[in-house]
Amino acid sequence: MAFPAERAADRALMARSLAYLFAAAAALALISLELPQTGDDRAIEVATPFAVVSAVATALVIALLLGAARVLHLWAFQLILFSKTTLISAAIYFSGGITSTYVMFYVLVALYACYFFTRTWAGVHIAFAGLAYGTVIVAHGAGDAPFARWLTTIGTLLVAGSLIRMLKERVERLIERLQDAARTDVLTGLLNRRGFQDLFDNELERSRRNGRPVSIIVGDIDGFKGLNDRYGHKAGDRALEKVSNVLTSAKRQIDIAARIGGEEFAIIVPETDDHSAYILAERLRRSVAQAFADGEPKVTISFGVASFPKIGATSEALLHAGDQALYAAKELGRDRTVIHNPEIASALAGAASRSTAQREGYLATLLALAEALDVRDSGTARHSKTVAQFAELTARELNLPDDVVDRVRIGGMLHDVGKIGVPDSVLRKPGPLSADDWVEMRKHPEIAARILDSATIEDIRDWVLCHHERPDGCGYPHGLSDGEIPLQAKILAVADAYEAMTSDRVYRNALSSEEARDELRRAAGTQFDERVVDAFMRVLERTGPSSVAHATAAHAAALAVSDGH
Ligand code: GH3
Ligand code: MG
Ligand code: MG
Repeated sequence: MAFPAERAADRALMARSLAYLFAAAAALALISLELPQTGDDRAIEVATPFAVVSAVATALVIALLLGAARVLHLWAFQLILFSKTTLISAAIYFSGGITSTYVMFYVLVALYACYFFTRTWAGVHIAFAGLAYGTVIVAHGAGDAPFARWLTTIGTLLVAGSLIRMLKERVERLIERLQDAARTDVLTGLLNRRGFQDLFDNELERSRRNGRPVSIIVGDIDGFKGLNDRYGHKAGDRALEKVSNVLTSAKRQIDIAARIGGEEFAIIVPETDDHSAYILAERLRRSVAQAFADGEPKVTISFGVASFPKIGATSEALLHAGDQALYAAKELGRDRTVIHNPEIASALAGAASRSTAQREGYLATLLALAEALDVRDSGTARHSKTVAQFAELTARELNLPDDVVDRVRIGGMLHDVGKIGVPDSVLRKPGPLSADDWVEMRKHPEIAARILDSATIEDIRDWVLCHHERPDGCGYPHGLSDGEIPLQAKILAVADAYEAMTSDRVYRNALSSEEARDELRRAAGTQFDERVVDAFMRVLERTGPSSVAHATAAHAAALAVSDGH
């Protein structure tokens, strides 16, 4: 049987030590044979053949130990040591019984057993030596004070054995501490990258075996270079310590936090899918922001989330995916969390290179994100674009100024970006949502508001936040009353509902345009604003439901930018 590398090395050391022990004892015995013999004639007569047999047996055992250490089982070592004790006892018997100097060899057995075996087995070997020695004394005939001699011998074995055991355990503890030190970050006391890597590999292996998910949250402090420049490196270090303390106390007990780079952190989240990890990451993010809310410097952190088995199977692939999501979080304005998604990653990479002007780039990024989410949720990039078109036409119908109409269109494009934080399991559920699913689903306007958190689109953010509010006060997230809901949000609500009703969903087929219109009329005044529903009906009558042109994300971006907002 083959052992893992580490245990094989242990075995080799055990075998070598036992071989040396036999060799040393044999050498000492040979020397002692040259000395004048004591004991009766009969004993001396047998002693020489016994010595020859012992020498041959010893040579064989040494050869076995040196040659076949890898295949030897633990019980083979036990057996060899028991026979060693028996051999010593026989030697004692043939060389004068209680007065024989070979008694000393028992110490070697005790040292070996206490070093390499468990406490219990070490005890068994010392007890066996005591029993064997006692038998020899009785069989050979007790000399002077046999019990006192026996007791001294066994006492010596116990003391020597305990001593070596203590030393061994002490050395092991020291090694453990050194290993810990090599895996720990000095500044924060968290695991360093190396420690992180080891544990992450272990967790992944565990997940692979038991088929449970494991997630990773990768974090990077926002604008840390600036903080160092403004407040100095010492303040930077203190901020790092504080962030690591916050992460440690806000994470769950089973999560493992590490500092994997200068101001980069990673948290291994076992037994958790990407959405639950997202919720945890958001909690960590808020805790960090809150911890620095009073006083200076202010510190925030961005997170990227990636999960096994959804994304890659290796720790490198997961870390890379987490990094990509983190990059997306930075692109979207920092102080936020993004779950990794391949389409989003490529959309953001494309968006970043598409334009250089920051505001333009930001909006283009958001629009690309909306498009990527559409593709993720429905397989086509249609929903947001169609909602944008309906919303734009309705806003125009309501005689809103041109610049507002353009921004309502962008609102339509962006109204669902919050679904980045809603798990696939909810979005793609074939059938009605459970109460828990609804709790998740209802978070998307607020998540969107977080993502759209930029001074240049404050108005759009508010509309998106309110696009599931209802005039009767039964909407979410805040249950606002009719007068509190912006008109633009009401426009988005109608456009969104009509588009949703007239397209196929995993859980039902599309309604006809007529059925959808009836539904809007029925809910006018409660779920929808009557004035908006009327305007929308006029739009549909005039243009026909199918003649709505599809704008592209780039076109919408161009509109927004040219308009100077
Ligand atoms: P971003 O929001 O894009 O992450 O901006 P940033 O300034 O944080 O950019 P980046 O992550 O590239 O900057 C990392 C900086 O963190 C570089 C270095 O000045 C600082 N840093 C790295 N390690 C340490 C450290 O141990 N102590 C201190 N005080 N600063 C560190
Ligand atoms: Mg960094
Ligand atoms: Mg940074």
